[in-house]
Order: sequence, then C-alpha cells, then structure tokens
Amino acid sequence: VAAYLDAKSNSGKFILRIEDLDPPREIKGSDLEIIRTLELYGFEWDGPIIYQSQRTELYESALAELDKKELIYRCQCSRKYLRANAQAGPSGLIYPNTCRSLNIPSSIQHAIRLKVPNKLFKVKDLVFGHLEQNLQSDLGDFIIRRSDFWFAYQFAVVIDDAAQNITDVVRGFDLFDSTPRQIYLQQILAYPTPNYLHLPLAIHKDQCKLSKQTNAPPISKTKLNSTLIRCLKFLGQKPPADLQNTKLDLIWQWAIQHWQTKLISKQNIVVKNNN
Ligand SMILES: [Zn+2]
Repeated sequence: VAAYLDAKSNSGKFILRIEDLDPPREIKGSDLEIIRTLELYGFEWDGPIIYQSQRTELYESALAELDKKELIYRCQCSRKYLRANAQAGPSGLIYPNTCRSLNIPSSIQHAIRLKVPNKLFKVKDLVFGHLEQNLQSDLGDFIIRRSDFWFAYQFAVVIDDAAQNITDVVRGFDLFDSTPRQIYLQQILAYPTPNYLHLPLAIHKDQCKLSKQTNAPPISKTKLNSTLIRCLKFLGQKPPADLQNTKLDLIWQWAIQHWQTKLISKQNIVVKNNN
C-alpha cells in the first residue's frame, strides 16, 4: 500500500515484481494468490509482472562483470564453520574473509562472495534517517550467489532496480540494514542509487514479524474497506471516520491525494493476530 501510494501520489509508475529466488521454500501457486489479492484490493500496476526466477541470465552477466573486475570469489565455508569462527556484528555474523585468497576450485560446492571495501556507506532514508555502515568491519564479504546456484536477494534486486529504472524503493524496515550492500553494488556496477523509504513492521506481541512462519493469518478477502483503512492508519495516515463506508476506489482516491510520508511512524506496530 505504501509503495503504491508513494508512486501514485507522485504520478509515478508502480511495478509488480515477484521476488521468487528461494524455490526450496516456495509454496506452489502463492504468486497467483498474491496477484489475485492485489487485484481484489484494486491495485493497478504498470507493465508486465517480472519474475526474478526467470531472470537468471541477467544476473549471470552482472556476475561475469564483477568477475572481470576481480571482485568476487568462491567460498566453501559451512554455517557450522562460521558459527564457530565468525564474530557477531550488527547485522549478524561478520564473515572473516576466510576464502578470499584460497582460490577454491570450482569443482567444490561453493557460494560466491563479493569483496567489500573498508569504507563507510551512508544511507539516507525518508522515515528512518541516516544509517552508516562499514561493510568490511560490520559485515565482511557477503554472498551474492548461494551454493545451490540461486542468486541472493541483495544482488538480484540491485540488477532489477537498475534494469527497470526504479527511482524509489519502498519496503519494510527489516531490509534497512541491507541497503549499504545494495548501494555498494550500485556503485561497482555503475548504476544509479534510488531513493529509499523504509516502513515500520507489523509485529506480534513477542516482537517477531507477522509472517507465514509465525502463523499470521492471511489478509481478509471480504473486509476490503476496513482492511485498507486499517492499513492506512498503520502507515500514520488520517482517513476521515466515514471513509470506510464509501466505495473502495474512493478510499484509494482519498489515500493518493492525502499521502504523507512524514506521518509514518518509526515504531514497529503490534498487530493482534486476527482479522
Ligand atoms: Zn569461505
């Protein structure tokens, strides 16, 4: 909703991209379920729907470009090895760059990591303000292709954002601290850096994010108006009390006209586990 309102209120285009880069964990047909629900709620997107799982060639060619610049290498470290040997950092374990100079043969099962510089990266976010991260000391070289040959989210989104001329990325706060990695990738691939807007998360009482893994119920397919109004309030917007009783497209019209990013809270919001 926030991405849609942000695009529409700026007379921008809204693009739908299915980021299906984790087939082992994917439930068959869940993409169609998402698309149908978006249609039901009245979302309209521009152009065709892009599936990341069908764009491997594009990612391969960017990978080849980084290889030519000698910025990537093969890594065979197991999770067990890293748990025992890597220090904890602000974004998880800091990779100790173990395999950087080992020249692991390609015949061994391996992930591909990107060399990161000892340099501070700054993010300016419209809601959460500034974030500074030194990729080397806070994170270490990170994985851009997993050992099962699927590309990492970090890598694929940067290539797709550039390929689709994305100017504004609107997404959850859980991805905020991955932004410096994406900015670094944009710099070495000579892509522009889009604007970033991160949103507070809908969480359970115990602080974990509402998701399928934490048994959050699916979005209602019948109470469209009240669900959309509730979502607008979640985003800090102030819909008038009688708006709920009007037509769905008039709620959208109001929301597009009145969209204000400065009303979005920085606080994650506890949502009760019912519709
Ligand atoms: Zn390694």
